[in-house]
Amino acid sequence: MPHIKLFIPGPTEVRPEILDAQAAWMLGHRMPECTELISRIRPKLRQVFQTEQRVLISASTGSGLMEAAIRNCVGKKVLNCVNGAFSQRWHEIVVGNAKANEVLEVEWGQPILPEQVAERLASGEFDAVCLTHNETSTGVTNPIPELAQAIRQSPNGDQIMILVDAVSSLAGADIRFDEWDLDVLLTSTQKAFALPPGLAFAAVSDRAMEKAKTIPDRGWYFDFLTLEKYLVKDQTPSTTVVSLMFALDKQLDDILAEGLENRFARHLAMRDRTIAWGKGHGIEIFAAAGYESPTVTCFSNNLNIDISGMNKFLRERGMIMSNGYGSKLKNVTFRIAHMGDLQMSDMEELFAAMDEYLAA
Ligand SMILES: *Cc1c(COP(=O)(O)O)cnc(C)c1O
Repeated sequence: MPHIKLFIPGPTEVRPEILDAQAAWMLGHRMPECTELISRIRPKLRQVFQTEQRVLISASTGSGLMEAAIRNCVGKKVLNCVNGAFSQRWHEIVVGNAKANEVLEVEWGQPILPEQVAERLASGEFDAVCLTHNETSTGVTNPIPELAQAIRQSPNGDQIMILVDAVSSLAGADIRFDEWDLDVLLTSTQKAFALPPGLAFAAVSDRAMEKAKTIPDRGWYFDFLTLEKYLVKDQTPSTTVVSLMFALDKQLDDILAEGLENRFARHLAMRDRTIAWGKGHGIEIFAAAGYESPTVTCFSNNLNIDISGMNKFLRERGMIMSNGYGSKLKNVTFRIAHMGDLQMSDMEELFAAMDEYLAA
């Protein structure tokens, strides 16, 4: 298959040496070699999540751990903060697990603000809040530290589970699990981690582990207590995705060698360049000013560009970007991901091709 460079918000480009790292001989998941592999991975994952608490590893995508967060951490009622398609998915998962809930929805493209959340929590009936760090469908980054602070200051705030989806931003944006006092922070391998899909990770607070003990029907596959019981022995309850774990081990080394600060700065520089490219063409940014995502830019299609025509043109040149997400945003927006291991030179290659298309 020819290589098509992915400027879509997941799966993202995976470097050849990371793909190659998967091609090692298979291990049994109870063999000491596998335990060693997991023991190497655990502290590195904690560094990327900026936590000294645990980071659970699951053979699923991020959506699986979204479901896990709901099953393990909600006893009473959830506040779902919705400003796009992925925060809407959080709500669908809550409904699908029959948990009582309320929805705080703001206009898509706008951020969720701390005072809006504080107002809803004033009743004191909630024990969990679902937040989306980076709304991939709109290119909005929600102000998680300020939101977490507002939640902690609300009635029973010190007991509220703060559940954060950072699928499209973790390892590309500065997210501080311990410092921001979050309870679950989850992500997938196929976005800013720049790995193939198939694994998901969640930092889980001590508070959330205690909460899980009080919830009777947590299921089995995504039970935080079972996952942790094995994790502390450098194992997983069911068979792990061995090949992908080899790639993860190497990619974590590479991420830490680049340096988290450098990695975050690279993403911000690519974001700024992407916005400047759009503005240079008179294309408007869909996200509210000041909340533009460091990993994916969502443009309004105010020039009425034929998005699928543009992507066809790009494909012929070995590249692809993304149409708007879902029926609501398709064709009226389009998205360029600047995520994972993409470099500024990759972005320039894309912009040169898009310039050529727009000039034709
Ligand atoms: C991609 C994405 C998801 C879904 O992740 P999967 O790993 O495909 O389950 C959830 N939330 C956000 C913000 C995403 O960008």
